[in-house]
Amino acid sequence: MTCTACARRVEKNLNKVTGVSAYVDFASETAHVSSSTEISREQLVQAVRDAGYDVGNDRGTLTLMIWRLVIGALISIPVATVSMFHELMPANWNQIAAILTFPVAAWVAWPFHEAAVKNLRLNTATMDTLVSLGVTVAYVYSFVQVFTGSHEVYFEVAAVVPTIVLFGRWLEVRTRRSATDSVKALLSAIPETAVVRKGSVQETIVTGLVQLGDLVVVATGQRVPVDGEIVEGTSQIDNSLITGESVPVEVTLKSTVAAGSLNLGPALLIKTTAVSASSRIAQIADLVREATAQKTKIGSITDRISAVFVPSVITLSFLTYLVWTFGLGDSGKGLSAAIAVLVIACPCALGIAVPMSLVVATSMGAKQGIVIRNPDTLSLLSKVSKVVLDKTGTLTTGHLEVTKIIALSETDSKEAVAMAAAVERSSTHPLAKAIASLDQTLTATNVQEIAGHGVSGTVNGKEITVTRSQTLKVSNQGELAAAIAEAGAASIVVVSWGNTARLVLALSDGIRTESAKAVAQLQSLSVEPILLSGDTKSRVESVAHELGIKSYFGEVTPEEKLNKIKTLRTDSEGNTLVIAMVGDGLNDVAALAGADVGIAMGSGTHAAQSAAAITIVDDSPLAISYALALSKKTWTNIRQNLGWAFGYNVLLIPVAAAGLLNPMFAGIAMAFSSISVVVNALRLHLVTPGK
Ligand SMILES: [Mg+2]
Repeated sequence: MTCTACARRVEKNLNKVTGVSAYVDFASETAHVSSSTEISREQLVQAVRDAGYDVGNDRGTLTLMIWRLVIGALISIPVATVSMFHELMPANWNQIAAILTFPVAAWVAWPFHEAAVKNLRLNTATMDTLVSLGVTVAYVYSFVQVFTGSHEVYFEVAAVVPTIVLFGRWLEVRTRRSATDSVKALLSAIPETAVVRKGSVQETIVTGLVQLGDLVVVATGQRVPVDGEIVEGTSQIDNSLITGESVPVEVTLKSTVAAGSLNLGPALLIKTTAVSASSRIAQIADLVREATAQKTKIGSITDRISAVFVPSVITLSFLTYLVWTFGLGDSGKGLSAAIAVLVIACPCALGIAVPMSLVVATSMGAKQGIVIRNPDTLSLLSKVSKVVLDKTGTLTTGHLEVTKIIALSETDSKEAVAMAAAVERSSTHPLAKAIASLDQTLTATNVQEIAGHGVSGTVNGKEITVTRSQTLKVSNQGELAAAIAEAGAASIVVVSWGNTARLVLALSDGIRTESAKAVAQLQSLSVEPILLSGDTKSRVESVAHELGIKSYFGEVTPEEKLNKIKTLRTDSEGNTLVIAMVGDGLNDVAALAGADVGIAMGSGTHAAQSAAAITIVDDSPLAISYALALSKKTWTNIRQNLGWAFGYNVLLIPVAAAGLLNPMFAGIAMAFSSISVVVNALRLHLVTPGK
């Protein structure tokens, strides 16, 4: 499916099946089907096919690829070994090799042949063209040679080349699958079913079937299934999906809630204002998909090289034939020389040139807590000039802690803290948890929730109140206002008893210890750090000042984060810049997918990690500059590898054109270039961490 219209078309066709009500989600490429009668899977599949689409099976493709690899390896290893050592060869080896190699040249290399034909129609040449051409020519030529009694056969080329290239391809496919995963992980925040209230009955239905205006019940601890407006109830919701902040937001009558947010308080009744397909989270998912699709348009480096290399080789081969036929008058020799040029030009090491460096870089990164997945991002990362940083959970820990305690009315703050902790102990609110962790000495009785903003209870004979409400009626009003102002940009909790405010607690999430050094390291690499956060402007400003970040933006929505990255990409002189984005939350997913390089925090959401090319496992922001350094080294290494991969083969092209190539040279070139690539990639281990 390429657009939402496709999804609607499939949906319409599925609904035509008797008894079926279906909903097709474009972003996750899934259909939710419920039916009142017995229907078979085939009927549904047929309905999808009638609409001109097919029921996908990603996993099947990958399994088939693994089978091709296994068969390719089982055949090409003995064929290459025997071909290299003449002593091992039985008398009729060429005939045996012809039979053994056939399944590899035809079936294992099938994906390359298929893609090459497709390329031919589009008038382009990629790595697939090169492999397909090389394998076909090597096999057909060798096959003909066997019948003419010649020993000049290249069966091992036909076997080894597709197998090794396919191995590299397999490593790539494994990384590419995650792009769709991020959308799936993002949408998994929407519950699969919703409880709809119709009159006096409540009914659980598939979320996709909820209609506009339906009344939906959201119980405590459940995620909201649709965008809606509260018509009954008061509660706190975790809206980190939109803001990236885990401090719950108070919601009451007429407040709007987004699908995917989490209800932490009492049950809510909401009126549906957008069904799941058009909800905010689905729109963000569409943005992710769009951004990912735009990204994959960057061709891989091997394809870019092939686009020039393949036509050049074909031209050279043709020229070889022309020169031999018309210049030297030997068209027979000309044909075999022209074919030798095509065979030798197909570098088997090309298939592993990129993945080998990547494997080494990945293991290097892993030792420093960095997981790298996409070789193309490494080339971009080495050119990064601006790094956009999320605040909460990225530069800060994301865990609330009490940062300031201000005592009022000459209260003993130690005792007051112990009393507040006792009252808060049973609450699940994140602010309450942070306060409860301060002390464990006292016990509260008679603990009661004050709807929407706090808790009250009896400790040491005193009736105490712990509240998030700042519009408190107390005797020392002026003193309280001054203390709240002093507490600054943070979440405020007031402890009071006897009609007097006793304690003001300021809570915020702490800045990671490594953050300041990480920002300084980026600046020393001439990379500009930019802070983008969904948190309040005042808090963002204070964190930026503390870390020495000059460019910062607060109260930024997920959509705005993505837009900001798009605008940052062009500088004042119209040059295109390469931007990296570091984030952790669902609100960062679109920006991570849209940035040239996405970097996710390991403790962040799965959706963020899937959208990012790099994950920092141990959450240390210092890893950002190490990743930049590693990417520069890796990218250089990949280019050297490509040089080695092509080198020996390019050197042998004139030999082949002169009609002097024999299978031994071809085998040596293949072995040497592959070994050089592996050895060079291993040199990457010498990169030392810059922290
Ligand atoms: Mg965050």
